[in-house]
Amino acid sequence: MNPNPNTRVSDHPIWDPKWECADRASIKSLQLERLKETVEYAYCRVPVYREKMRAAGVSPSDIHCLDDVRLLPITTKADFHENYPFGMFAVPARELIRVHSSSGTTGKPTVVGYTRRDLETWVELVARMVSAAGVRQDDIAQISFGYGMFTGGFGLHYGLERVGATVVPVSSGNTDRQLMFMADFGSTTFVSTPSYAAHIAEEAKQRGMEIGRDIRLKWGLFGAEPWTEGMRRRIQCSLGLSATDNYGMSELCGPGFSGECEVGKDGMHIAEDHFLWEVLDPSTQQPVKDGEVGELVATPLWKEALPILRYRTRDLTAVTTEPCPCGRTTARMCRVRGRTDDMLIIRGVNVFPTQIEHVLMETEGTSPHYLLVVTREAALDNLEVWVEVSEKQFVESMSRLSKMNELQASLAKKIHSVLGVSVKVKLVEPQTLERSQGKAKRVLDKRSLE
Ligand code: ADP
Ligand code: ZN
Repeated sequence: MNPNPNTRVSDHPIWDPKWECADRASIKSLQLERLKETVEYAYCRVPVYREKMRAAGVSPSDIHCLDDVRLLPITTKADFHENYPFGMFAVPARELIRVHSSSGTTGKPTVVGYTRRDLETWVELVARMVSAAGVRQDDIAQISFGYGMFTGGFGLHYGLERVGATVVPVSSGNTDRQLMFMADFGSTTFVSTPSYAAHIAEEAKQRGMEIGRDIRLKWGLFGAEPWTEGMRRRIQCSLGLSATDNYGMSELCGPGFSGECEVGKDGMHIAEDHFLWEVLDPSTQQPVKDGEVGELVATPLWKEALPILRYRTRDLTAVTTEPCPCGRTTARMCRVRGRTDDMLIIRGVNVFPTQIEHVLMETEGTSPHYLLVVTREAALDNLEVWVEVSEKQFVESMSRLSKMNELQASLAKKIHSVLGVSVKVKLVEPQTLERSQGKAKRVLDKRSLE
């Protein structure tokens, strides 16, 4: 049975048209009402916030308009660490029905918790997101995000069940089993990190699996790590599916903060009735202009267990409120370029791995598997870009070494023109770089070991 019969619209059902298609004034007025409640709630229930707000000289009664959010203190990962594990929670343990934690990509994990109502809302947010990506009740959805403390597996699981899809909870890893179920069950939806999707595509090809016969995927829901348009094209082509970008983080609830619609595929719709977003200049902390890149700072407007004010995500993105052809009126955030912590500084130049991925994916002969190796010699930083050549290129070039040199030189030149810093490109044989089953590790910074 359709769990939400009132919300189907033509070929592109919008899960919750009331809020996904609301006029902007109504969204803002709801946000203000919920912001006031959230601030009051955090102030009364969480001593950490009461202290932070007192120190900032602000009280809940100072919030009169949405811009007043800027009076509030910022929350960072350090706040979670200092109050590890449960010190930021607003409810006693008996009211929690689940805890998760971040992947710990950047240090000790942060612990997050949910009340029953929190989980119900989260499920709805993910249901929205997967519907926007194209998933319907008759889809068979294979989840290759890890189940466990990571919010990705369970988050997608319950959201996909909510729309009525048949969930196949394979969890991460075990590529043989993934491919066997994909073929035998006829999975139509694949949920994973983009890097794992690229790996699955390569493994499927090696096993002689064919699109249409063994692989019947329609939708790919990818996220949890930065990726590029070039990577999307490659994955779509190699798996024969329509891929969307989906964003979330444990501190804000998990997946469900934003996701692309299948119609526009041009920026991820933010669930604005549940989150207030700001995009700030990382150095001045002042808002950037509409559509300009800055750091995403977000305030969930609905959480009982763990209200968070102005969480500094460290993710760089830009947000636009331009209309989208899908009919949703919510603001859209563009691809996350990376977190400020992922930024490498090479001889004084800021480098994001996605900038290099962009060049690699635009160049024929490369595979989507790469690693950036940073070393320091005589006080000088060196960046080496290791990239596997595509299988075809490799076989062909065995006999024509000059072609390999050409590819190497052309990549180094293109990367130099994008970054303004010279790099060494090392072409490596297919299947030599380590594959990740979750978030890919793109950088090996040996400077930190010295
Ligand atoms: P951790 O912070 O330990 O990695 P999470 O599992 O909560 O823990 O991951 C959240 C982070 O993952 C985000 O802050 C962001 O950097 C990254 N992320 C999530 N989704 C995307 C996406 N679609 N594009 C780029 N980065 C993403
Ligand atoms: Zn849209």
